[in-house]
Amino acid sequence: MKLTLLGVYGPFPAAGGGCSSYLVEDGDTKILLDCGSGALSRLLKHIPLAALDAVVLSHMHADHAGEIDLVRYALEFGQGKAPIRVFSPEIGTLRRAVFEPVEIKDGMTARVGSLTLTFFAVHHAVPTAGVRIEDGAGHALFYTGDTSYFDGLVRAASGADVLLADACLKDASNEKALKNHMTGEQVIRLGRDAGCGRTLLTHRFGAEPTYPLPADAGNAAFAEEGAVYEI
Ligand SMILES: [Zn+2]
Ligand SMILES: [Zn+2]
Repeated sequence: MKLTLLGVYGPFPAAGGGCSSYLVEDGDTKILLDCGSGALSRLLKHIPLAALDAVVLSHMHADHAGEIDLVRYALEFGQGKAPIRVFSPEIGTLRRAVFEPVEIKDGMTARVGSLTLTFFAVHHAVPTAGVRIEDGAGHALFYTGDTSYFDGLVRAASGADVLLADACLKDASNEKALKNHMTGEQVIRLGRDAGCGRTLLTHRFGAEPTYPLPADAGNAAFAEEGAVYEI
């Protein structure tokens, strides 16, 4: 499976950047994981819309789902293959002719082409899902969506080759923010506790996208737009 980082910022982008959006590919299977600002134009640099099999929206905040209506417009103008499956914890606004909305429930699994998706409810201000994506060779990606830290994440991410996790917070000083997002330290610990092969710190805060990482960050690094990982 191949992971391409299209947009890595939230809740708004840094100059020239985009918000949460990732392309997951396994042979002919193509999934757009979140659809924040810049998602569609960046996706189209890699694949035609007609090749896209499904969209997963971790939740409906604008930095993760703000461009889904642009995907809709493109489909309505005859681009791509409608209807396209769109997974989301909230499907009210997705009831459109060009979409086949699928409401995500905690523990639900779904098959998209050669990939198996398992969804986990995570802890955020609105209904939000993390997703574990596994290919036929046993390789796994776990994406947290937006979430505060909780122990269940370790089980959900267990043994994933790549952990792609919300590390929006540079430290734990903002108690309110800690209820909705994780610090880099929490994400690094999660990756270590879950035995993940590589940890990517994403949902980088647009106004201050980098902060010092602990000396023992190990296999963890900030997610960089345009980076591609073979999983
Ligand atoms: Zn976000
Ligand atoms: Zn959010």
